[in-house]
Amino acid sequence: MNKGEILRYFNKCYGNKYKLYTPSIKSEKDNYFFIVKGNKEKYLVIFAKIDVSREFSGKVLEEQKLDGNEIAIKFCSLNHHNLSLLRKIFPFLNPSFCGLRPSFGTGDRLGIATPAHLQAFAGKNIFPVLAQQSVREMARTERNWQKVLDDAIWGCFEEGYEGPFGADADHVKNIKELKEAADCGFTMFTLDPSDFISKDIEELNEQELNQLYNKISKNKKIENLYLNKKFKVGEQELIFDEKLLRKIILTYSEALNHVVECYEFLKDYKKEKFDLEISVDETPTVTSPLAHLFIILELQRRGVDFQNLALHFLGDWQKGIEYIGDVKQFAREFSLHAAIAKNIEGYKLSLHTGSDKFSIYPIFSQETEGLCHIKTAGTSWLEEVKVVAMKDPALYREIHRFALENFAKDRASYNLTTDLSRVPKIDKLSDGQLVDLFNKPDSRQLIHITYGSILKVKDNEGKYIFKDRIYKILFKYEEDHYRELSNHIKRHLELLIR
Ligand SMILES: [Zn+2]
Repeated sequence: MNKGEILRYFNKCYGNKYKLYTPSIKSEKDNYFFIVKGNKEKYLVIFAKIDVSREFSGKVLEEQKLDGNEIAIKFCSLNHHNLSLLRKIFPFLNPSFCGLRPSFGTGDRLGIATPAHLQAFAGKNIFPVLAQQSVREMARTERNWQKVLDDAIWGCFEEGYEGPFGADADHVKNIKELKEAADCGFTMFTLDPSDFISKDIEELNEQELNQLYNKISKNKKIENLYLNKKFKVGEQELIFDEKLLRKIILTYSEALNHVVECYEFLKDYKKEKFDLEISVDETPTVTSPLAHLFIILELQRRGVDFQNLALHFLGDWQKGIEYIGDVKQFAREFSLHAAIAKNIEGYKLSLHTGSDKFSIYPIFSQETEGLCHIKTAGTSWLEEVKVVAMKDPALYREIHRFALENFAKDRASYNLTTDLSRVPKIDKLSDGQLVDLFNKPDSRQLIHITYGSILKVKDNEGKYIFKDRIYKILFKYEEDHYRELSNHIKRHLELLIR
């Protein structure tokens, strides 16, 4: 049988009950594998020789003789066991190393966005990092590394995607988390040493600064490497004068020790090549160009092979909305960061909280000549809730009211200037107007910030109040879900050089 015959046969016998995702049909020798969608669930269907089909867990629907072979038709659930078998048969289903290529991360909190994300990447020369979730996000979505990775790979299979993609264990803070992510097959690790970055340095007087400084081991050795050294960067010259250097050493030295320790672990533990990102974005301190220079020179001196560096760039970076701040001033300062990266070479700059920062993308991409990484996550979730608002306004109204109740509690872990009084009163909006809420910063943030509460809340019987209904609506209106989401991610990708 060939692909066309499989398609005809399946549609003739099962087409009234199941929709077949045509691009998903893959073959290995005479065995065929594809994804179908039923009323409530998706399945992996295999048309395979009996001995091959036996390895997969599922339900045999038919066994018959075709072209002299004993063939089984089996419906299998999209579980980890079946996926592991598929990944052995089709190696393109395994995530891979990205290295110094333009790349873009699409965090997918619900685990059903990958096909839409891939549709946005089509035809663009940007490496997709499809599985990307932070430890904090997983606590809020009640997912784990394996689930995040598996969901993304099932999405690749459904979409028939055979290109490379990455899997980013985001904002990992310690070796235990690194080990768990590595065990599950992640290929990119974003180390977040923010717990080791000294804060409030600016508020200390000179005596306090000196006391603290003298506690740092090897401070003199490090100081001697940089003191009064000059670096020509673009038009400017950066100098490590004593005062600035000491502050930088104070701020970052513990964090760098932690990064070195984590890197040493990973290098020994992870057998395949991996991408390493160092992120110092989640700290109160804006990373100055001089601090940026210090961080990379130290990492290189200490033998850390890293690919990406995420800094805390100038301005106010809030979730799911445009950049807040002076774009021109950002551009001026960023051009220095980009010049440093170009001078030193060997890594790319990474932008976190990249959702909806449309005014920043052209600058970020042009200054780095396309060699950058960008992370988004919340914006996909917002598109998904937008589709809920379009298709089930009553459910959206419930979610919205619940989010209002939980906002004060949930905002604590975010940097936000959201003003709930600017969120339109939902009772005054018609169903058709609900979708406009997703064009307004305050109402976007209301839904963005509260995602964990929305997804986790259960009723007295232990049933999810919103989560299952959200999945159900997006399952039913999958074409709308994929279209809205891919168009929105496309808007991001189109602003980047590729
Ligand atoms: Zn970050």
